[in-house]
Amino acid sequence: MQVLRDALKQAQEHGIAIGHFNIADLVLLKAVFASAQELSVPLIVGVSEGEREFMGVQEVAALVRTLRDEFDYPIFLNADHTHSLAKALDASRAGFDAIVFDASALPFEQNVQQTNKAVEAIKAINPWILVEGEIGDIGTGSQIHEAAPELVKGLTSPEEAKQFVETTQVDILAPAVGNMHGMLKSMVAGQTSKHLDIERIAQIKSATRVPLTLHGGSGTADEDLQNAIAAGINIVHINTELRVAWRHSLEEALAREPDEVVPYKILAFPLEAVKQIARSRLRLFNSPGNSSSQGVRRFR
Ligand SMILES: [Zn+2]
Repeated sequence: MQVLRDALKQAQEHGIAIGHFNIADLVLLKAVFASAQELSVPLIVGVSEGEREFMGVQEVAALVRTLRDEFDYPIFLNADHTHSLAKALDASRAGFDAIVFDASALPFEQNVQQTNKAVEAIKAINPWILVEGEIGDIGTGSQIHEAAPELVKGLTSPEEAKQFVETTQVDILAPAVGNMHGMLKSMVAGQTSKHLDIERIAQIKSATRVPLTLHGGSGTADEDLQNAIAAGINIVHINTELRVAWRHSLEEALAREPDEVVPYKILAFPLEAVKQIARSRLRLFNSPGNSSSQGVRRFR
């Protein structure tokens, strides 16, 4: 079975990105896995500290491992935004494929120091786990925001990116390049979208030569995502778009069938709504060459 490092290497070679979707329940997991399977593309499932607490660290690891084994499928599990070393080590022991160690709220020097310490401790448990570090400010909370958050630390510079990667020894870097967690109300309504600093992504890539992750991909213009992938982004995180689809379709299902009490009949609606979003995002991320005309690059 393929490891995440190889899947990332292939993504870089083919000019595509692996879709990363957060899950908080079985509906989300089933939906994103079915979408990836339909297209035959690799998949990363992410769980934040809150999502892990809700699902259980061991439990979510067992679910994802079962899918990987049963379908012989390149599905990987990421411990998203892990703020404490203890939680990073819990996920490492549970068999996660990757860990985002996020000390980005700290001043740069402390971020470097703590991330380096985490890399060493995680690799001592399992050298195959990929560790991702984060610098710059991309806001917090994959939810709907009234107004744009003030991102005080600004965008990541190629110089600090290089220094950070070399000193911490992280495998993957999450830079701030115009991306932001969550969506504004106007983005949910489809009136506005996020725009990325493509030139900066290309500069950070050539300065670091490591896989790059784009966090907070929800609500980003398609063209920006395609250009970002061509410039060196290898993983794109989508969470809020799935959460919005999950909630709206659930409300609709409950309103339409007020007497229905069978959970799997009600949950069929959010399952389908989340699948549609995941499918269209995966199609975009896995179509090389800046155009969907060549079609999706399948792994088999
Ligand atoms: Zn994130």
